[in-house]
Amino acid sequence: MQTSVSRFVADVRATCKETGVKLRLAPARHVRLGPGVLSNGYFSSEYLELATAVNKPEQEWLRVLVHESSHLDQWREKAPVWIRSAHAYDGLFNALVDTHPINRSYLPIWSRLARDLELDCEKRAFKKMKHWDLPIDPAKYVRAANAYVWFYTMIPELNSWYIPGREPYNDRRILAMCPEHFVEDYDNVPKELIKEYYRIVKK
Ligand SMILES: [Zn+2]
Repeated sequence: MQTSVSRFVADVRATCKETGVKLRLAPARHVRLGPGVLSNGYFSSEYLELATAVNKPEQEWLRVLVHESSHLDQWREKAPVWIRSAHAYDGLFNALVDTHPINRSYLPIWSRLARDLELDCEKRAFKKMKHWDLPIDPAKYVRAANAYVWFYTMIPELNSWYIPGREPYNDRRILAMCPEHFVEDYDNVPKELIKEYYRIVKK
């Protein structure tokens, strides 16, 4: 019997085939892009690859695949948010992770571009999971999306990425403070959340 999940995965597979993107559903906890850091999944327009680590509960990997496949949609539609943020990610991660001297004064603009890209992606992902009737709790999904998008707003102030394993979208305290709906304005991070974000970047 075809389930909503298998129908959705078949659709992602077809989209990948059509656009020349390699789909990798890895039987592992994490995937790694090149020499990059471990992650739950990624879409790379450079390597033409959509990857998700699937050795975990269905709800967990499914939300990653819905999210990353929405980045693929942004890319193939040449969405303005995608085009605008083309160099933002490199700049952002070089500034946060690399030890090379880099002009950090661009951090606010890079993180804003990346945030707008992620927000657009989360809204697409939310529509997609409803469309395919996927077994993901929508309220929980939006809480996690808000936790993630607000984190990007905080980056210039935090001056840091989060510690691996302390993802804001998996942090119980942060999730409990995030609303179950998308908000109008992501520039203002709720006050009580600010110190929680400091907690997940503190070494
Ligand atoms: Zn994303």
